[in-house]
Amino acid sequence: MTAFSYDVPLAPDSADRGRTGARPATGEAGALLEASGALAMRVDIQGRILEATEATANLLVYPHEYLLRTSVLDIIALESRDRVARLLHATAQDGAPRRERVRIFGGIGASGWLDLRIVHHPAGTGEPSLLLFGYDITEWVESERELTERAFLDPLTGVGNRAFIRKRIEEYASGPDAGQPFAVALMDLDGFKNINDSLGHEFGDALLKEVGARLEDIVRGRQSVARLGGDEFVLMLDGLEAEADAIRILERVIHVCRQPFLLGGCQVRITTSIGLAFASGAMQSESQWLRRADLAMYEAKALGKNRYCVYSPELDRRLDEQFQIEQSMFEAVQNGEFLLHYQPIVWPGSAQVCAVEALMRWEHAGKEIRPDVFIPVAEKNGLIKHLGAWALRCACAQLAAWDAQGIHVGHMSVNVSAVQFLHPGFFESVRNAIHDARIGADRLVLEITESALMTDPKAAEDLLMSLRALGIRFAVDDFGTGYSSLSYLRRFPLSALKVDRSFVADMVDSPHARTIVSAVLSLARELGLVAIAEGVETDAQGDLLAAQGCDLVQGWRYARALSPVDFELAVTDGSLVMGQGEVFLQRVA
Ligand code: C2E
Ligand code: CA
Ligand code: CA
Repeated sequence: MTAFSYDVPLAPDSADRGRTGARPATGEAGALLEASGALAMRVDIQGRILEATEATANLLVYPHEYLLRTSVLDIIALESRDRVARLLHATAQDGAPRRERVRIFGGIGASGWLDLRIVHHPAGTGEPSLLLFGYDITEWVESERELTERAFLDPLTGVGNRAFIRKRIEEYASGPDAGQPFAVALMDLDGFKNINDSLGHEFGDALLKEVGARLEDIVRGRQSVARLGGDEFVLMLDGLEAEADAIRILERVIHVCRQPFLLGGCQVRITTSIGLAFASGAMQSESQWLRRADLAMYEAKALGKNRYCVYSPELDRRLDEQFQIEQSMFEAVQNGEFLLHYQPIVWPGSAQVCAVEALMRWEHAGKEIRPDVFIPVAEKNGLIKHLGAWALRCACAQLAAWDAQGIHVGHMSVNVSAVQFLHPGFFESVRNAIHDARIGADRLVLEITESALMTDPKAAEDLLMSLRALGIRFAVDDFGTGYSSLSYLRRFPLSALKVDRSFVADMVDSPHARTIVSAVLSLARELGLVAIAEGVETDAQGDLLAAQGCDLVQGWRYARALSPVDFELAVTDGSLVMGQGEVFLQRVA
């Protein structure tokens, strides 16, 4: 157990205060002790040094003589001093050896860690003493600390990692600050994937590093910043008085992230969306904090990005509602609760019907759930594939049925969601729908949003080309709300642009909206595309659109979306008049 025997003669007696003296250890064993470079000394119960080796003096960077006038407790760091004093007493009393890891302070800045062993030295003639032996473990302790630190660090950015977040939140929940206001903010860089894709991962990494550094600047220190993975960062904020304090920090984060980044000589700009979970008092687990911040972050994204949102129980309620919708959706497909209604698309001058747009309806438990609500849910859970394929079949079959009844609808427009469009089975579902209904492919128009087309323009182009080869035509839906590349608009085999109804709604009062509408109309003319304005509610809007040369209009001013029965009744009673011309054949070769 002990490193050297009780009988090692450290040095001959000296007179000073009854102590033996601090001269080099003698004899073979003594030479061994000197060679070990370790601390080796004999002390009394109070810790006063009675003997010490030369190596001890070297280790502590003190002259020998000095050691003899001091106590071992004086070279031990404050936090361990009392403990070592107790151990000395305990060993002197029961004779059992003891061991302790201690931090020491020697002369001229010498400091480090010792693995200190305390061994009882049986009293010969004088009072009992203790032998101390200490290995220098400074390097080991430091590399151990570095390893632990590294276990909590994100190697790329140098900020904390997921384990660090857990540790920080646990420390808060169990520490003296538990119950004080605390906030967890989860932030995601908007469009980071674009940067990675267009500039390469190297630049993506550099950007993440810089973001980490900017965040550390704002919250002053590593204690609060971590990266969860990818482009998601987490801020853990304490020392707050109120939610407003956290929000002030987030506003700064948003501002600072918006400043250009210099990557490989080019300036890159990004924005960020942040979700904040703030609480005072309530103890929460790390996963609860992150879930709440995550919900709020998604809300920030949904509200247009480049902003923050604060978690509220209302968000949870909405999620719950979505969950309910999702649950009933699976049954609804089986129960046939989904229907299609058809909204006429008319010529602005005569208001005669040129075409119809199929719009999905869901009647569930006596109330109607809006497509704006259930389509996004269906896109998330994958049901949109089935719903979309069903809508295509149903709309084509309806067109054939009306043909058979002598109600000639020029063409049928069917909405296609981005998820559905990008799904590999899409081409087949379109081909089957027209084949089964036995309608000409030229009677079907697919309405696709700009964002669906621009997600993967090359894949979109190929798909559009192969569908176009069947005879199918395409309209860009909600035009003006997304972003389109003009060169792609030219390359895609498109037939129509639909001016988004938000511009139509504002065009009478807002010159700005009017400018956009007329720009879209001239773009359509330029590209040889049919222009269709949707959401026309008033005569004023209709007249303005007609005057600007809009080809077709659609909206409540002319007709709402009608069930097939109501549609047929309206045709029979003359409130809907079917037109004869084919607008697409006039404009598009
Ligand atoms: P959208 O394609 O832009 O459809 C036009 C929306 O405008 C429809 O809303 C229609 O009822 C509404 N609308 C028509 N005229 C007016 C008007 O004069 N004023 C106003 N304020 N609104 C008017 P709806 O039926 O609620 O559909 C909302 C969205 O849901 C559609 O927007 C479309 O994106 C999506 N959707 C509807 N049916 C389908 C479908 O079968 N498949 C897919 N993927 N999406 C669909
Ligand atoms: Ca549409
Ligand atoms: Ca639209």
